[in-house]
Amino acid sequence: MSPSGGAPGEGAPLSERAAWVRDRIADAVRRSGRPAGSVKLVAVSKTRPLERILEVHAAGLSVFGENYIQEAEEKIPGLPGAEWHLIGRLQGNKVRRAVALFSWIQTADSARRLREISRCAAESGKTARVLIEVNLGGEGSKAGADPGDLRAILDASTGLPGVRVEGFMAIPPFSVDPEGSRPHFKRLRELRDALAREIPGAALGELSMGMSNDFEQAIGEGATIVRVGTAIFGSRQGRG
Ligand SMILES: *Cc1c(COP(=O)(O)O)cnc(C)c1O
Repeated sequence: MSPSGGAPGEGAPLSERAAWVRDRIADAVRRSGRPAGSVKLVAVSKTRPLERILEVHAAGLSVFGENYIQEAEEKIPGLPGAEWHLIGRLQGNKVRRAVALFSWIQTADSARRLREISRCAAESGKTARVLIEVNLGGEGSKAGADPGDLRAILDASTGLPGVRVEGFMAIPPFSVDPEGSRPHFKRLRELRDALAREIPGAALGELSMGMSNDFEQAIGEGATIVRVGTAIFGSRQGRG
């Protein structure tokens, strides 16, 4: 902890930054009245070199998120024991490589993509754990399924071998004030609750929402997975 009790500075050891994020998550979980350990922290490691990832892994974080297939192919073999989540856009021509690399794919956004994941996973005897990415803001430029299409996507996924749809992921429209994300988080939870009622057999327990700026708000609204990059690794240069 820094003397002020605030965030460790950019130069602080990654172990200290990781511990600070974990403490804030634990506090937010407690405040929301949920059991300890009910939120999974995905350390978002896009653009970070493997040495940094190993440092964070040594500090006790074991779940990582990557956005780009080629970058992931270079890094994941260096830490195969971790749990790796794909959190970047999944193109149809990269599904096979994605399924080989990642145990979780958080960015499926169509029935077609789910069928492709299923085919590749079944061929290799795997089961891919999948979240459907939802475009909450209705922003045309953003990835994600339209909320109105979720029912049809879930229906189409019923019975597909090799793929287990576990819930939803969303990246709300950016707002400077983290409280601005809260209505979007709430909406994703409500969408999930409604679909879980409509489709009795569906197991939609996971809500992946909240990043460095707003993961506490997300936990308050029911997130079970938060995706945190900058708060752990420091600010990113360039893309991403
Ligand atoms: C980069 C990224 C994150 C992490 O963002 P930070 O603000 O650095 O915590 C989370 N989710 C997705 C999908 C991302 O692309």
